[in-house]
Amino acid sequence: MAVHDVLDPRLYPQIQGAEKMAGEITRIALPGAAGRMGKMIRDLVAEKAEFEIAALTEHSDHPLVGSTTDGVFLSADADVLGLGKGGVIVDFTRPEVTLMHIEIARKTGTAMVIGTTGLTNEQEKALSRAAADTPIVYCANTSVGVTLLAQIVRQVAGQLGQDWDIEIVETHHNQKIDAPSGTALALGRAAADGRNVNLGEVRDSGRDGVTGQRRQGDIGFAVMRGGDVAGEHTVTFFGQQERIELTHRAGSRAIFARGALRAAAFASVQTPGLYSMDDVLA
Ligand code: NAD
Repeated sequence: MAVHDVLDPRLYPQIQGAEKMAGEITRIALPGAAGRMGKMIRDLVAEKAEFEIAALTEHSDHPLVGSTTDGVFLSADADVLGLGKGGVIVDFTRPEVTLMHIEIARKTGTAMVIGTTGLTNEQEKALSRAAADTPIVYCANTSVGVTLLAQIVRQVAGQLGQDWDIEIVETHHNQKIDAPSGTALALGRAAADGRNVNLGEVRDSGRDGVTGQRRQGDIGFAVMRGGDVAGEHTVTFFGQQERIELTHRAGSRAIFARGALRAAAFASVQTPGLYSMDDVLA
């Protein structure tokens, strides 16, 4: 007999949510539905029988608000995203909008996958607090390749000495609004973790002018913006007369959408907590 057979589900909704059976459809609430990632996720859901779009939202000024997209009404009312247990808000929007959706997820017990980047420390703290009430997967890069790259970077940084200089270069399309990318920072954090230091204390981004010599132990960031590049990241470890370069190139945003849906299926059956893409792939 399953635990929820002997417990009133109205009193134990989390257990009821966690009992979503394998093969059951994962219901997705998609804010930013007309955005680059929103469209990619809608297209992918249309191909997969194990997911369905249950709610779509956009900014109130968006011309498509009020129309029907893929058979679902495109609303400007964020409250429609609160699907409750078993439903998942998949959020690739903007930090301040994501924060508003976190509150809806928390109040309604809807799980969440957050792909939005550029959150401040304060916004990340609010996210962690909400995860006490609902499952949240928070990940600056939902691709399987980058998740593995971060694991490798952590390991390499841990094995090489402090005399190896670590630099991270990222390239993205010309519409991106934050820099360095959330992925570059996550790779920097992985390198810092490997060295047992805090990224905040060794981060060196935006060099310009007379910068002085490179401080040993710093992790440097450089940024390029142009064209329609979906995302490229190279972590270089500079030694004496040798260097290691680890690169990931995203050929299309589809890789992030695939990972986001994998994370959504995972989140829909978890108990409240903050999860990463490492947890999803474990
Ligand atoms: P985008 O600008 O194309 O899409 C964002 C969408 O959100 C827009 O359509 C916008 O109108 C909509 N929006 C704004 N306010 C809204 C509101 N109040 N309610 C509902 N929708 C609203 O951007 P994008 O390229 O799709 O990227 C979105 C975010 O995802 C960025 O932070 C980006 O860095 C991040 N991203 C993360 C990953 C990852 O793997 N985690 C991958 C790609 C992009």
